[in-house]
Amino acid sequence: MSTSAQDQRRPRASLHTLGCRLNQSETLALREKLVEAGYEIVPFGQEADLGIINTCTVTAQADSKCRQTIRNFIKRNPEAFTAVVGCYSQMGAKEVASIEGVDLIVGNQDKLGVLDYIGDGEKNDLPVIVREKIDRRDFTMNFAGERPFNQRANLKVQDGCDFVCSFCIIPFARGRARSRDLADLMREVDSQVSRGVRELVLTGVNIGTYDNSGLDILGLVDALDRVDGLDRIRISSIEPTTVPWALFERMADPAHALLPYLHLPLQSGSDKVLEQMRRRYDATAWADFVQRAAEAVPDLFVGTDVMVGFPGETEEDFQDSCRLLLDNPVAWAHVFTYSEREGTLAARRDDHVPMRERHRRSARLRALAERLRQRWHEAHLGREMRVLFEDPREGIAPGLTDNYVRVVVPMPDPVSVRNRLGRVRLQRVSADFVEGELVEVLG
Ligand code: SF4
Repeated sequence: MSTSAQDQRRPRASLHTLGCRLNQSETLALREKLVEAGYEIVPFGQEADLGIINTCTVTAQADSKCRQTIRNFIKRNPEAFTAVVGCYSQMGAKEVASIEGVDLIVGNQDKLGVLDYIGDGEKNDLPVIVREKIDRRDFTMNFAGERPFNQRANLKVQDGCDFVCSFCIIPFARGRARSRDLADLMREVDSQVSRGVRELVLTGVNIGTYDNSGLDILGLVDALDRVDGLDRIRISSIEPTTVPWALFERMADPAHALLPYLHLPLQSGSDKVLEQMRRRYDATAWADFVQRAAEAVPDLFVGTDVMVGFPGETEEDFQDSCRLLLDNPVAWAHVFTYSEREGTLAARRDDHVPMRERHRRSARLRALAERLRQRWHEAHLGREMRVLFEDPREGIAPGLTDNYVRVVVPMPDPVSVRNRLGRVRLQRVSADFVEGELVEVLG
């Protein structure tokens, strides 16, 4: 930036997130810091002076997607300062450093402080790596409110994990379990609600282990329920052994803001595989829990994660996973293909399933997941459900029911219902959503 016209304009920054909801919420926190520091935020892909790529390392495929994204950014913006932050920076700093044009690599501990290392934005001759040990203490986020409005906003409440499942790199990438300071979290909630946010999606690595200011996950959910103006609380995902039963009482109570939504990772339907994964339950316990929860909470959505191709997984083990999903009230399964993560126990095994077979099984399970979703959607036809309407598209008001059915309502003036709750009669299953008609606007 040398000409006077360029000197007058604000520096432009663009951000990109790979991976989970937690990363998405952290990118928004980073965005706020950039706005506060005087940057103009431009969409990723446009010309920028600074690019920050918030990475993921959950699978080998995630690593490769990160490398591709970083290269593409540098190719389009050879003069820009390129900072790579997050999980892949934490675990694969050397690989990131080998990409020509990268200026800065920051792991998870200092991710939100990345601006401190960018200085005047002049490119570095060699990439600087900042990869500090991850703190064990609870944390704050200092929400500033400088982020795009979203009626369903992610709320980071927790980070890290102490469980150390044998396939998982996350406890190394994100450190030990720790919780967000309650007062800091509540400041964000109040500010979001005053901006009109109606639903908060609690995000973290192992949310059920939340523990701060004398509140566990149940106490936290109750504290959020007491916030005036907050209509909906959704827990993005929760580990099976960490769910207090009383959460289901809250979900079943229509006056409580906690939604009937349970994403309960399974990983495998084979007891042998679960044990080798070092999961803390067996298949029967998982299924019993889901059955009981579905009986206790009307219309409960149950989603799950399943890993395919763990070392030693036989066709029979895989069939156990398929059967468990089909035999239980599961509405959706997110399928992960196992990939070796260096440093994990499972990576050291010598009975890896051939990659082709892993992909074959993943494709079969994904097809099954689609059938589950279809079954779930069809079970709602003819019913009236409460929907929170999101940003409209031409002639269409999209939204989600409390129990996570994606709904679209064709209407002449969809803007009129944006960010409002309505009652919708569900009529037709179409691809991955259900079409319906508006019965009434609720508020
Ligand atoms: S519970 Fe297991 S799979 Fe989940 S983040 Fe912790 S170690 Fe990884």
